[in-house]
Amino acid sequence: PRPDPETGAAVKAADRAHVFHSWSAQELIDPLPVAGAGGAYFWDYEGNRYLDFTSGLVFTNIGYQHPRVVAAIQEQAARLTTFAPAFAVAARSEAARLIAERTPGDLDKIFFTNGGAEAVENATRMARLHTGRPKVLSAYRSYHGGTSTAINLTGDPRRWPSDNGSAGVVHFWAPFLYRSPFYAGTEEEERDRALQHLADTIAFEGPGTIAAIVLETVPGTAGIMTPPPGYLAGVRELCDLHGIVLILDEVMAGFGRTGKWFAAEHFDVVPDLLTFAKGVNSGYVPLGGVAISAEIAATFARRPYPGGLTYSGHPLACAAAVATIEVMADEKVVENADRLGTDVLGPGLAALAARHPSVGEVRGMGAFWALELVRDRETREPLVPYNATGEAAAPMAAFGAAAKKHGLWPFINMNRTHVVPPCNLTDEEAAEGLAALDAALTVADEHTV
Ligand code: PLP
Repeated sequence: PRPDPETGAAVKAADRAHVFHSWSAQELIDPLPVAGAGGAYFWDYEGNRYLDFTSGLVFTNIGYQHPRVVAAIQEQAARLTTFAPAFAVAARSEAARLIAERTPGDLDKIFFTNGGAEAVENATRMARLHTGRPKVLSAYRSYHGGTSTAINLTGDPRRWPSDNGSAGVVHFWAPFLYRSPFYAGTEEEERDRALQHLADTIAFEGPGTIAAIVLETVPGTAGIMTPPPGYLAGVRELCDLHGIVLILDEVMAGFGRTGKWFAAEHFDVVPDLLTFAKGVNSGYVPLGGVAISAEIAATFARRPYPGGLTYSGHPLACAAAVATIEVMADEKVVENADRLGTDVLGPGLAALAARHPSVGEVRGMGAFWALELVRDRETREPLVPYNATGEAAAPMAAFGAAAKKHGLWPFINMNRTHVVPPCNLTDEEAAEGLAALDAALTVADEHTV
């Protein structure tokens, strides 16, 4: 007999006894028991409802429990719940076709994985085998996943405990004008200096040793730093010049988040490999993948690709992807994200920044925004120090608690809060979230100088 799980206390007790959580000191966490979710909201067993401005981990791009996707998963479960990857399966074929139709350029072959890190892992392997070169360049202020290669590519403190000497990885600085690593004063200066820095890094590492450059098209967890116009085109040129594979990681930025199907479209750049996950099926069933150019696919036309996964292209995950992409097209979810950014969240967050001294910068696009919280607008000193924990991180914790008290579940990373709601958020929901942020920022303001 199963114990009755339907009290928050029982759910929590079993969690505390047996679930080992990611990225956490197990005794220092206090996970909220979740009773249910729908659209942009979730709720606990006590009757508290939260507007989810995190989209889970930035993956529920169409919100929770969309009935068409739930039905598609149920239908696929009844028809063919699982099947091995070596066969041609209808849901997988259709998901690959719908994704390939939307990825830029000639990225028309899809290798399916179970998530983002495996996508990055396999894209890197493809690039190394395609070029016969060992090294990969990636940016500081980035996140590429928790597996061995992906965590070493990552350019934030999550890498440090797992760093194996970053085998085969060299990090460089990508543009970020607000905290410019190049002492730049304008977007143009930032772009030009960042490109010169990358060109120098390539020259001194030895172009013939570099298989790939991996970049998030718009870096996500590290701070939603939209690259200045021309930067990614410049990176593409450097890659072409030296025969380096360009891998754009769109695990977070892809599938509508920035107001386009893929963020690369904003910059007119076509990578050689594009990684995706999360929004591909709103995270209803684990799925990720690599979209592969014709040239790289040709490398493995008559030579086996030495990589695979038992659940590559799992039918349930692929059926969820097909339904999600159809919902996004039918309900104009990508267009809504674009409109939200331009008409609602952009102006709404700018208005908050004008009222709250703790907001140093607002940046983003679509349903993908970051607020940089600072102690001092002049010096741009962050509200909490880089990678702070415990007491040092208290001002951000106080901000988070205030948001929750006002019914908003906020995304917090270091001194930033990200506004990353579902891409199909309504204007009313956006207004509700902005009002809660307004109240929470008043608490952050108390920690300014
Ligand atoms: N790449 C990017 C840009 C991400 O944001 C993430 C996850 O947040 C990953 C890769 C890793 O994806 P996953 O957690 O599905 O392995």
